[in-house]
Amino acid sequence: MSRREEILAEMGLAPVWKLRERKEGVFHEEAPLRGKEDSKENPSPWIELKQAVPACTACGLHKGRAQTVFGVGDENADWLLVGEAPGAEEDRVGEPFVGQAGRLLDNMLAAIELRRGDNVYIANVLKCRPPGNRNPEPDEVAKCTPFLLQQIRLIQPKLIVAMGRFAAQTLLNTDATIASLRGRLHSYAGVPLIVTYHPAYLLRSLPDKSKAWADLVFSKKTMLELTRGQKHPQPSS
Ligand code: URA
Repeated sequence: MSRREEILAEMGLAPVWKLRERKEGVFHEEAPLRGKEDSKENPSPWIELKQAVPACTACGLHKGRAQTVFGVGDENADWLLVGEAPGAEEDRVGEPFVGQAGRLLDNMLAAIELRRGDNVYIANVLKCRPPGNRNPEPDEVAKCTPFLLQQIRLIQPKLIVAMGRFAAQTLLNTDATIASLRGRLHSYAGVPLIVTYHPAYLLRSLPDKSKAWADLVFSKKTMLELTRGQKHPQPSS
């Protein structure tokens, strides 16, 4: 059994899906977000952002944090994965998705031949841990979202994968459920966006793992088709 088949088996997923080869190519015609070029030529927007986040006291969460959790990965990544907020482990380590949900996320990435840090950037809607891992409050989301939006502007990813309700609802400015949003291509400021379940939810809800797998396959297919210049891929199931 290959490593990928082992990972899929660990995730309880079958059959093993075959992914098409990646090809180089042109991506979306209109590129409304500016920033990638700026960030390559002028690193100061990143430096400013990396200073602003740990200095932030805009909401009450700063009082309970061990540290802010900025985001991690390739600052020129094609893939941007967005989660909800740091948990206890992330608050301690200072990196998103390093706890149990993070291990599942790493396995899911490996199953579509991706690795954190390698053409992948991972960030959260909130940069501080909500106490007791409670849900983010609307005011906290409103205060923190500009940091995420600036990260998106600077990274200028080719595809955003919004994991869970808070990422999806924040970026799509909607109250719709994950179930109603997944399985189709959305867009945030012209960047294609796919909605999937949050890894922490998947740890509790085994039946939805197969749907998350379908979302990942759709994401991979979307990336392949976008890089070939096709604009409207469809989910395979
Ligand atoms: N859940 C998230 O949404 N983000 C993390 O960084 C960890 C767990």
